[in-house]
Amino acid sequence: MTLLLVENLAKGFGGVCAVDNVSFRLEAGELLAMIGPNGAGKSTCFNMVNGQLRPDAGRVLLDGKNIVGLPPHDIWRMGVGRTFQIAATFGSMTAVENVQMALISREGLLYRMWRRADRHAREEAMSLLERVGMADQAERPCGILAYGDVKRIELAIALANRPKVLLMDEPTAGMAPKERIALMALTRDLAHENGIGVLFTEHSMDVVFGYADKLIVLARGKMIAEGDRDSVRDNPRVREVYFGAGKTAGLHA
Ligand code: ADP
Ligand code: MG
Repeated sequence: MTLLLVENLAKGFGGVCAVDNVSFRLEAGELLAMIGPNGAGKSTCFNMVNGQLRPDAGRVLLDGKNIVGLPPHDIWRMGVGRTFQIAATFGSMTAVENVQMALISREGLLYRMWRRADRHAREEAMSLLERVGMADQAERPCGILAYGDVKRIELAIALANRPKVLLMDEPTAGMAPKERIALMALTRDLAHENGIGVLFTEHSMDVVFGYADKLIVLARGKMIAEGDRDSVRDNPRVREVYFGAGKTAGLHA
């Protein structure tokens, strides 16, 4: 069964059709890039998949179950995790505390059980930090870490919920090229190891064409292309609508 199946999704704001009849599928272990110019409707799609926005029409099936209309917290519990364009961690807490909190939140433990949960979750938090290459920074407050390191911790936080699907809205925004590649290589390895389907948006073409198994291209809310890297790269409509006629240099990975 398809992990995430999105069918005929639509959302308007006032008179503007932000997302218009968008459909795609994501399989376990796969990286799907959603690309398109600013305002194409990418974030709106993400927000409908994770329940923050209710679609006007369409279905979102997670493991065959329609999740449209469920509250975001329920969708998160069912295994749809996300990372944010601007990394979201608590700056005054250490890296390991941030991950522990995510683990405790997954278990639904109450605050008064914090002390016990603290011991219980610490080992697991450390192994997640280890996996994202951040074990040596575990005791440092997130607020003083380099941005690329915070993004890794954010990944560990997302993994704490054992997601089936991970939504990453511009994960590498604000990162240097070398950091970007490292974060996406890590994401791909984690997706393969854990059978996580990753849906991501991205402006950097080296990341898109270096790491996406499949692409979907939006322009003004509509899908203009989908397929593997080669077919999207060579699609004349993509070149024309998205990249501008003649501007093809960035399309070569
Ligand atoms: P992208 O993420 O591809 O840049 P968005 O999904 O953020 O695009 O936006 C798609 C369109 O919907 C844009 O025209 C944007 O102005 C509009 N839009 C997005 N969110 C809202 C909102 N909450 N209220 C009104 N218009 C919105
Ligand atoms: Mg966006």
